[in-house]
Amino acid sequence: MIDVDARAVVEFTQALVRIPSTYDPARGRTEQPAADLVAAKMREWGWDPVVYEAAPGRPNVVAVVEGGAGDGPTLLFEGHTDVVTEGDLATWTVDPFCGEIRDGRLWGRGSADMKSGLAAILHATRALQLAGPFPGRIKVAALADEEGLMIGAHHFVSCGLAADVDGAIVAEPEAGEICAVAKGALRLRVDLTGKMAHGAMPEHGRNPVLAVAALVDRLGALQRELQRAHPAHEHLGEVYVTPTVVRAGAEEQVNVIPATASLFIDVRTVPGVEHKVIADRVAALAGGDGFTAEVSVLVDRPPVDVPVSDPVVAALAAAHRTVTGAEPVYGGVPGSTDGTVLTHWGGVPSVVYGPGGKWIAHQADEYVEVAEIVRCTRVFAEAARRFLHRDHP
Ligand SMILES: [Zn+2]
Repeated sequence: MIDVDARAVVEFTQALVRIPSTYDPARGRTEQPAADLVAAKMREWGWDPVVYEAAPGRPNVVAVVEGGAGDGPTLLFEGHTDVVTEGDLATWTVDPFCGEIRDGRLWGRGSADMKSGLAAILHATRALQLAGPFPGRIKVAALADEEGLMIGAHHFVSCGLAADVDGAIVAEPEAGEICAVAKGALRLRVDLTGKMAHGAMPEHGRNPVLAVAALVDRLGALQRELQRAHPAHEHLGEVYVTPTVVRAGAEEQVNVIPATASLFIDVRTVPGVEHKVIADRVAALAGGDGFTAEVSVLVDRPPVDVPVSDPVVAALAAAHRTVTGAEPVYGGVPGSTDGTVLTHWGGVPSVVYGPGGKWIAHQADEYVEVAEIVRCTRVFAEAARRFLHRDHP
């Protein structure tokens, strides 16, 4: 097994957690200082990181570590530097940016999602490098804005940086599960237009609020139809079509039938469901009855379905077995990650695996088990060794 610096990876996680890298320019917060810390660590090790501006003040840090033992595959280790907001401080029992270790746990916003994962991929790569030459190369990427529109991952792909990558490991917190599948997400906005009228004389108008109600009802039927056509996925569960936001009228105008109403829909899909087909179906269900409907696609992230036989998944599974002595558990990502962008737009097989519980991300009192950080670093180093040596039974 490759020797990793257990103390250093934990200390680096603490240092990252102590940087409040939420994206909140009004409070002077961006990923920049976290990205600077990552780049400084890379330079300390003699790497040559390149910093790309995915957007002003939102850097992607990318380093390529050549193995020096001849030709071989390119492995991408990917993490993100941003964290979600700490939210209401009253809900925390620790300072969200303390990075303190207590009861074997490292506490703070981003400890699980995913500064421990980021520290682990960096230190795993360093450990492999110190262990001697290896074929191929490792690309280490610390990207911006995973928690937003994933502009960091999109920028990475659009710069051509994914083109030479043979497999990617995304270090999101998945509680030790190997997640080669991820749910798709499609966010739609439906604008319905009717005819404004006095609330006392509805016969002179066409009330789009009623059209919203009818559409919500039809979406329930659409969800049932999709669930019948696409049975629950063993790791991802059901397809969901969930209306989440309704906008119409004004509180101070209760006696006015509004001309327009909007419905926002959060669709979650499993492999095999075509997002275009769903958007078209919603458009067909929304129109008619004297109302005009316009459907806009706000976010479109297709499901990820990488086979477990793919070399990057197989190498990770073998590494998990070697390091933990336990059989790997396969799971699915309930949301989407940068892996969705890398696989769908970059054409790179991706797998998600990393320290921290699946459900602790984005919560108050976020933490990660210290032992899990070290264990994951060992798994990452072993997975890289196996992937690059093409040793994945
Ligand atoms: Zn994350």
